[in-house]
Formats: sequence, structure tokens, C-alpha cells
Amino acid sequence: MPSPRSAGLVAALMVMVSMLTMTSSGSAQARAVTHQAAPQELDPGNLTQLRRDAEKSSQALAEATKALEQRQATLAKADKELKGKLEQLRTATLEMSKVRRPLADLVQSLYQEPSGGDMAPFFTGESDGTSLRALSDMTYIVSGRDKVLADAGRLYQEQQRLAGEAQDLRATKLLVEAQLGLEIDTLRKRSATVVKSLSQALTKLGVRVNQGGRTGAACDPTQVSSAAQYPNGLLPKSALCPLQQPGRELRADAAIAFVALNEAYRKQFGRPMCVTDSYRSLGQQQAVFYRRPGFAAVPGRSNHGLGLAVDLCGGVDVFRSVQFNWLEANSKKFGWMHPDWAYHSPFEPWHWEYDPKLGSLL
Ligand SMILES: [Zn+2]
Repeated sequence: MPSPRSAGLVAALMVMVSMLTMTSSGSAQARAVTHQAAPQELDPGNLTQLRRDAEKSSQALAEATKALEQRQATLAKADKELKGKLEQLRTATLEMSKVRRPLADLVQSLYQEPSGGDMAPFFTGESDGTSLRALSDMTYIVSGRDKVLADAGRLYQEQQRLAGEAQDLRATKLLVEAQLGLEIDTLRKRSATVVKSLSQALTKLGVRVNQGGRTGAACDPTQVSSAAQYPNGLLPKSALCPLQQPGRELRADAAIAFVALNEAYRKQFGRPMCVTDSYRSLGQQQAVFYRRPGFAAVPGRSNHGLGLAVDLCGGVDVFRSVQFNWLEANSKKFGWMHPDWAYHSPFEPWHWEYDPKLGSLL
């Protein structure tokens, strides 16, 4: 049974935990209603929804893990402070007992041996002056002893109180860890389930998710938050995902969004999009740059190296063609866009990019 004090502490922590959960899901809902994704008939595989679910659960998992770490750190700090206070009290109690013992012994001896020692006049009443001085000495010693005893009592009570507080703190720590641990476990399972569904949906659309040395379920958009820190042209296989177009791959989130866009395009034009270029490793970027200087970005600076850009053919590469116009009107529903610079400097109607911010608002 937790004491009222620890019950209050636990209640406060639980409120913090639930507020954290409410804030993350609340803001996600707010974002969801302000932006329009592609309607279901344009995205039959429901890829956008699955990708967003995976990204949201991954984000929630990261937030819950961070919250647990913060709570653990705060509680550990409080625990350390309490241990320090207890140690100080222990030292003070030891010092106190050193003083208390001789005082107690002295008082004891005075009562037990009234006929002997310097205090004898007081007990026998031989001399008034000596008795009075002895009486005041005795009163002083006894009140000193009483004060020491009272102080020791207070120290003991404080020690007991702090020990109780330390125990409550440890109980609270276990409770918080259990609660957040459970939440993290649930989020992890949910994330794995969504990634699996996503993988199945992609496979159904002809994406060979396990292609190219990938193990297990690839095309995992939850890997992307860490991929965002990889240098241009050096993305690991785990962050990449193949397209339906053979040999082409992009960063997982961009790839999933592209597959959905490709399906919508196929529905409109009866054939998939034609892709001449997608993710370029640093080595590939250098090769393109030296072969056709001026036609490719300086190696290490291109969005192709981040796995977020494609170069298209099959009509899209012709400015204001039916294909170009359709893509311009519809790509944003999938997080894709024709960047401003590509309209004029340099003019590259074939170059299209995935905007993760746009994609996260769908
Ligand atoms: Zn390009």
C-alpha cells in the first residue's frame, strides 16, 4: 500500500504520462484534418495511410522512450539526493551518540554515587554556596543531556521520514517504468504490425521489398528518421526501398509515396511512370558529374543522393505535356512536387522530388 505522500507523487506522474500521450496524438489529429491526401480511388493500396501510420507510431515510440528516459533520470537524481541526505543524517546521528553517551554516563554516575566525588556537598547539603553551584552545574548537565536526547529523537524521526521517502521513490520509479514500458511495448508491436502490412501492400503492387541484400521486412519508413542523418550518397540499404521500376530505389518514405503516385499515374495513363534516375550513391553521382558536367548537381549536394528525387521520362520530361500537367496537379497529394528551381534554373522538367514535410502532412 503506498502512503498518501507517495500516492500523490504517483498521481502527479500518471497525469504527466497521460498528458504526454494526449499531446502527441492530439497534434497528429490536428495535422490530419488540415491537409488533403489522395482520395482512396487514387491510392488503392492505401499506401499513404499505411506510411503515415508507420511514421506516427515510430514517432510515438521515440517520444515514449524519451519520456521514460527523462523520468528515469529525474527519479534517479531525486533518489541520489535522498541518499545524500540520509548519509548526512547518519553521520550526524553518529556524532550525536558520541556526545550523548558520556553525558548520559555522567548523569548516571551522579545519581548513583551521591556520597562521592566533587558533587558530594550538593547531595549532603554541607555548604549552601557549594550546593547552589553544584545544583546549577547539575541542572546544566541534565538540560544538556535532555537537549541531546531531543536532538537525537528529531534526527531519528527525520531519518525515518527520509527512509520512507526513498522507499516511496523507488516504488514510484518501478511503477513509472512498468507503465511507460508497457506503453513502449504496445507502440513497438503496433509499429511492427503496420510495417508488415505496408510491406505486404508493396509486395502486392510488385515491389520486391527484400531485393538487394535486404533482410526481413524492408521498405520500413520508421528507419528514415535515422536515415535523415546519413550523408548524401551514403544511405544504407536498410533506409532504401526499391521501386516497381527495375533497378530503381529511393529512401523508404519517398519510395512508398512514389509507388502510390505511380499507381495513380498508371490508372490515368494505362502505364507506369518512366524513371531514368532515382537514388544515386556518391560514386554514381561522381560518375554522372564527370560524364556530363553541368547536367548533374555537384556530387554530395543532389537530392538524388538523399534518395528523395527522380528523373522521369515518358512524356513528363516534356514541359506542359499532358503527363507533366497531370503530375504537377496530382503529385502533391502524395508528397511529391516539381521544385521551383526546376522550372527555370536549370530548367529540368524531368526532375521531381519528394518533400518529407509535405508527406508528413498527408
Ligand atoms: Zn534529377
